[in-house]
Amino acid sequence: MSQMRFFALQELANRQPIDIKNPSNKLSDYYGIHVFDRKKMQEYLPKEAFKAVTNAIEKGTPISRSMADLIANGMKSWAKSFNVTHYTHWFQPLTDGTAEKHDGFIEFSDDGDVIERFSGKLLIQQEPDASSFPNGGIRNTFEARGYTAWDVSSPAFVVDTTLCIPTIFISYTGEALDYKTPLLKALAAVDKAATEVCQLFDKNITRVYANLGWEQEYFLVDSALFNARPDLCLTGRTLMGHSSAKDQQLDDHYFGSIPPRVTGFMKELELECHKLGIPVKTRHNEVAPNQFELAPIFEDVNLANDHNQLVMDLMKRIAQKHNFNVLLHEKPFKGVNGSGKHNNWSLCTDTGINLFAPGKSPKGNMLFLTFIVNVLMMVYKNQDLLRASIVSAGNSHRLGANEAPPAILSIFLGRHLSHMLDELGAEDLTAEEKKALKLGIGRIPEILLDNTDRNRTSPFAFTGNRFEFRAAGSSSNCAAAMIAINAAMAHQLNAFKAQVDKLINEGIGRDEAIFNVLKETIIASKAIRFEGDGYSDDWKTEAAKRGLTNINQVPEALMKYNDPQAREVLLGEKIFNENELTSRIEVELEKYTKKIQIESRVLGDLAINHIVPIAVAYQNRLLENLRGLKEIFTEEEYAEMSQDRKDLVREISHRVTAIKILVREMTEARKVANHLESQEEKAFSYEKNVSPYLESIRDHIDHLEMEIDDEIWPLPKYRELLFSK
Ligand code: ADP
Ligand code: MG
Repeated sequence: MSQMRFFALQELANRQPIDIKNPSNKLSDYYGIHVFDRKKMQEYLPKEAFKAVTNAIEKGTPISRSMADLIANGMKSWAKSFNVTHYTHWFQPLTDGTAEKHDGFIEFSDDGDVIERFSGKLLIQQEPDASSFPNGGIRNTFEARGYTAWDVSSPAFVVDTTLCIPTIFISYTGEALDYKTPLLKALAAVDKAATEVCQLFDKNITRVYANLGWEQEYFLVDSALFNARPDLCLTGRTLMGHSSAKDQQLDDHYFGSIPPRVTGFMKELELECHKLGIPVKTRHNEVAPNQFELAPIFEDVNLANDHNQLVMDLMKRIAQKHNFNVLLHEKPFKGVNGSGKHNNWSLCTDTGINLFAPGKSPKGNMLFLTFIVNVLMMVYKNQDLLRASIVSAGNSHRLGANEAPPAILSIFLGRHLSHMLDELGAEDLTAEEKKALKLGIGRIPEILLDNTDRNRTSPFAFTGNRFEFRAAGSSSNCAAAMIAINAAMAHQLNAFKAQVDKLINEGIGRDEAIFNVLKETIIASKAIRFEGDGYSDDWKTEAAKRGLTNINQVPEALMKYNDPQAREVLLGEKIFNENELTSRIEVELEKYTKKIQIESRVLGDLAINHIVPIAVAYQNRLLENLRGLKEIFTEEEYAEMSQDRKDLVREISHRVTAIKILVREMTEARKVANHLESQEEKAFSYEKNVSPYLESIRDHIDHLEMEIDDEIWPLPKYRELLFSK
């Protein structure tokens, strides 16, 4: 056995679970201790400064320099109680994950003494050396500066010895270079549009908040095994590996008991999350072996997303302590269930109404129906934008495989609600029927209560009081999907409101006007509703008949960000300007290209330097064996005995040659792609001309893995990666 694999397995055999104890039996004793939340602000800030922050959070009022100084000072005093020495602006560039630049509190005073200082200026704005973050051409070198600016709506927190301040990240010219800036704009847009629609029903409603509850799926792999797999280390997924004899066929892992080493990790992760005020609640095994899920109680989208980013980071660090590596990739193992990140999304008013939950009165139910029907239309019109927001190199292995929603968007409503909409959308209702229907609307809650059928194959499912967008990938930043959904919803609600207003201006009563527009919208969006099996082939055919789009190629799907409808939403709702939209597409295309490029290089290297030599060595052993047989046995006996080995020698020869040729061709294809001018051409070329080699080369290697002596195979195998506890 190769030394690396051997030592990795030996290390694994000696692993012990790490026991984690909670600091107190009462969760409330330590929940949020690492967050500078309102309670701590009140304690650490002078009254006027506290007021300034609350106003900024609630009304968006700017914070003056003198107030900022007071706030920074209070924040620093609080942070000092955790021996904090550094602060950082914490932001979400367009790469995966978050970025930080740590600065010490250390400064020289005017007299030249060393002092600890954290001023308001440093709290509010920082200038990280940002030229290495993706910007899609926004930042020319002469203005290669980016600014981070404090997002007051997300509280500061402490990790280790650093005070982290959530910020947006923009260019010198004020253009967004991150996920948070457009997310905040999309949330403001949906707030405004939804509030206006709500006011048709209830004038007391003055704000609408969007909520997000994410469900994070991930794999854990022992660190020693992880380190012995260069493909996992460098690309986050296995580029080769024959499927294990025991797989997930039995589904015995799902909701099974969690192994002790994993429990130790989960306990510590939960503890750290709770200290950071992240309300994680459920943890369980997932479908695949060594796959797990973590989900919090839902929160305001911006905060929930910050928390998800933070959790992904915490996971990686805490896993290391427990000798695990966490895999956030959407498809770390071929043939094994991949990982997604369901985005549970709802809209809620400042009067406490969940707009996706049926009300207690007919009036409340009209409000509910209005929002549900507008979601239908929003998804129907913006299929391409929604898809563009979740596609990536990693997610492309998962979408449409037999485990994740297809690349076709559709909405599952549940039988009863769907039936009710069919009735509402029926042509030529008599006055009697209309009256009966309006009565029916009053009965929605009862109907929904026994609506227990849940469809797990739907990419956009109504689950009683929220919609669950299931196409998002496990490694993605939820903001991408949340920008698209909330911006599109704002756009749709604005269109709806305009239609209703038009009818009212024509002299039609308000209720009648709403009813009529709803009816039209139900009919127009009917094609997006689908209650059946989203994984089936029949659905693909049916969806095509309905005119729903189905795009499996990443670059093609990404280019839909530039389609007229997407532009109408994103530019129209002022989420992006032209420049920002162009650059966003560039960055996404470039990310795709880079991922495939790295995978291709790593696979080429592994194939030539790790696999081929082992294959040849094994072939030599076979040849030696054949020579020995020939020496000892008669020609006749030899002919009979040697056949299988000769075949194997031939087979290995054939595969080794094929691998070498394919790797050479793949390298050539990369060179051609790299010389193309635009990011668009490059991405398309990588997709079409490079990525197919990843599969064909792998296929030969996976066969060799089956043929070559297990003892000398260089890399940990699927059964070792997936079934070690
Ligand atoms: P399941 O696995 O059945 O989909 P989970 O309980 O794992 O459900 O996750 C459901 C997620 O949905 C949780 O994050 C939960 O907080 C969230 N959620 C529940 N109600 C709402 C709501 N009204 N709006 C947004 N998210 C919600
Ligand atoms: Mg779910």
